[in-house]
Amino acid sequence: MKKTIIVSNRLPLDVKVKKNELEIHPSVGGLATGLKSVHAEGNSLWIGWSGLKEEELTPALSAKAHEAITRERCIPVLLTGAEVEDFYFGFSNKGLWPLFHYFMEYAEFELGQWKSYQAVNQKFADAVLEHLEDGDNVWVHDYQLLLVPQMIRDKKPGVTIGFFLHIPFPSYEILRTFPWREEVLQGMLGSDLIGFHTYDYERHFLSSVKRILNYEVKFNEITCQNRMVKVDSFPMGIDYDKFYQTAVQQEAQRQLEEQPLAVPDGTPALDEVQTIVSIDRMDYTKGIPNRIRAFEYFLNKYPQFKEKVQLIMLAVPSRSNVPQYQKLKRETDELVGRINGQFSTINWTPIGYFYRSMPFEGLITLYATAPVALINPIRDGMNLVAKEYVATRIHQDGVLILSEMAGAAKELTEALLINPNNFEQIADTIKYALEMPIEEQRSRMGILQKRLQPNTVEKWAADFISALEETKNILPVFT
Ligand code: UDP
Repeated sequence: MKKTIIVSNRLPLDVKVKKNELEIHPSVGGLATGLKSVHAEGNSLWIGWSGLKEEELTPALSAKAHEAITRERCIPVLLTGAEVEDFYFGFSNKGLWPLFHYFMEYAEFELGQWKSYQAVNQKFADAVLEHLEDGDNVWVHDYQLLLVPQMIRDKKPGVTIGFFLHIPFPSYEILRTFPWREEVLQGMLGSDLIGFHTYDYERHFLSSVKRILNYEVKFNEITCQNRMVKVDSFPMGIDYDKFYQTAVQQEAQRQLEEQPLAVPDGTPALDEVQTIVSIDRMDYTKGIPNRIRAFEYFLNKYPQFKEKVQLIMLAVPSRSNVPQYQKLKRETDELVGRINGQFSTINWTPIGYFYRSMPFEGLITLYATAPVALINPIRDGMNLVAKEYVATRIHQDGVLILSEMAGAAKELTEALLINPNNFEQIADTIKYALEMPIEEQRSRMGILQKRLQPNTVEKWAADFISALEETKNILPVFT
């Protein structure tokens, strides 16, 4: 019977070695949730890195890990410490990540890391080929594995392959600066279907293919050699009901206990202090320093809000061994310190800053207790946090301020959209949000919820798979 082989950098399992014992937990990220439905159908195999380095494993532990992982219908790809450094932290996160997010000045291109990227992509492709049977669908994910589709096709020309990119695809003017632009485009074009979050990313990809590879592009179809490749947008959603229902339960619990709303460190929120929430990984694409500076600008421009508003900022540690991320952490610490030092009073701290991750229940409390969310990435493929905030607003109140540079802004047009570099506009928008009449809040939030509720992450996965199935009906092109 045919199956779907999911291929992503990380497996949906978190595997660690502690005191010579294995610890295995399911991971909770968006991709793991989204593909749960595909993986749960039973006819699937998930191929990816377990998070363990080859050097950490004794033969006995390795056998144990393999057995535990394969029990979950997953196949581990083993990476050495050097590969993790060069392929993952190096080429993927110091090269492709900044380039695709338009941070050209951060992007490092090193031949040694490129070679490692090619070798590791080949490892993933080989693992797929080892388990591939006639009629299977292969679904490859994200920027770490751009070369995998063509590497599979080289050996198995007739296979059906889908590829989804979870980050932005940059415009031709950015991509053309990349030394291996032809190779990554050819790698992706090994697919039958290539998916992006938005129509803009799709257009950027098509124009790069046309201008760099000179292939014929008609609407959203590319003719390359004797094959047709289809390109489309599939905006990823969230597990809407999980967020909504948890918010409902938390509110019922609060009423039962007659507790005042509490911010997550347990401090009761003062009635007069309204919170503005922001949640992101500590990543330079998320606009964290811009947010703090814009908030400072807001407090100076509208001093009547001093002691009335607090920015609650959750920044989740991420890639903290990459120097740009360490620099960002220092800059954020300094900015928060300076502004809190300057504006705080006995009763009020303008910025509540948490540098850690938060369990799911805590996230819901954060979302549900904040009348305003300020999400202002400089560049973001989608931004699920924006969607999660909407899903927890069970009374349709609350205002989402969202950067127009996030993929989510294409769908969430009733949010207050801002340019993350325009502090004047952000300051005015914060004021507008804090003073927005409840009728307008409900009308905007109601429309946003109606749009998000049916477009769940499960639907996203199902839509992609059915579009991939349809590509089997496309006849080969002979030129
Ligand atoms: N998140 C989490 N723990 C936290 C904070 C956030 O699991 O402490 C989740 C959040 O709920 C969201 C995801 O991390 O689903 C972030 O996804 P997003 O698309 O906003 O950004 P990314 O980190 O993928 O760039």
